[in-house]
Amino acid sequence: MFTSLSDRLTLTFKNLKRKGTVTESDLNATIRDIRVALLDADVALPVVKQFTGRIRDRALGAEVHQALNPAQQVVKIVNEELVEILGGATRRLQLAKTPPTVIMLAGLQGSGKTTFAGKLGHLLRSQGHTPLLVAADLQRPNAVTQLEVVGERAGVPVFAPERGNVFGHDAALETGEGTRSFGDPVDVAVDGVEEARRKGNDIVIIDTAGRLAVDVDLMRQASDIRIETDADEVLFVIDAMIGQAAVETARAFADGVGITGSVLTKLDGDARGGAALSVATVTGQPILYASTGEGVKDVELFHPDRMASRILD
Ligand code: GDP
Repeated sequence: MFTSLSDRLTLTFKNLKRKGTVTESDLNATIRDIRVALLDADVALPVVKQFTGRIRDRALGAEVHQALNPAQQVVKIVNEELVEILGGATRRLQLAKTPPTVIMLAGLQGSGKTTFAGKLGHLLRSQGHTPLLVAADLQRPNAVTQLEVVGERAGVPVFAPERGNVFGHDAALETGEGTRSFGDPVDVAVDGVEEARRKGNDIVIIDTAGRLAVDVDLMRQASDIRIETDADEVLFVIDAMIGQAAVETARAFADGVGITGSVLTKLDGDARGGAALSVATVTGQPILYASTGEGVKDVELFHPDRMASRILD
């Protein structure tokens, strides 16, 4: 069981038994509480340190000293800072002036990219868009077939490399239906955008390959896809359950690929959401969507204020 930060701070201030003024040492106790609360929520340590530094600076200001209820005042500051780092207001997709808007998904294998591609396609379709999913994950056996299934469920067309494609044999995959030999993921992504242009799809969602861990080849491939398709949005998809490891992964994708925002998945699990703060801090980019299940409709816009409450309560 977690004790909420609010309860913890109230207790700390009560124990201090010094009503009226808040001293530097009172603040140290408070900062300790905040640190424990954030670590409990799985925020990575370097991020916790950076965050508590900001809180200390603000809390040392007059607003806490003069507050009737210092504990509540500190909680308010923590909440405000969290919301700001998490992106302030909900950020919407940036649509290209000239369609199609190209949205590329990047992230580790198993983070939920393919599933999210279907969800985003479904969501955009319900808003009157005509999205096209592009299967550029040629690494994982069955990824193309999986995207085709996801697309069918979402009612969104899928551009997939042809069976026995001409590009080469290095990505030949075994599927239940026999060998599918695919080409270069960058070519597939570019062809997918071309296809959208031809068919009049206004948004392209490119599913890319992930690996179990960050590696140089993966980053280069993702970066090439971003450059060659001139992607408008590069969304880093990350499993909220990854916890502390979120920092290194997010940094690797932000530096190696360049991202414009993130998507947090598996928030239906019991993750407290600390990964959100880690990812937003390290990438400096907002989180756009929260994925909350395996179904095609289990997705919502990311609300920084709700996530702040989830982390603190
Ligand atoms: P990819 O390798 O990044 O394309 O990941 P997948 O889309 O294949 O997802 C990996 C697994 O996580 C699959 O079993 C999905 O059903 C599951 N998954 C994806 N998103 C969510 C989510 O938001 N909640 C839950 N509970 N499961 C998810």
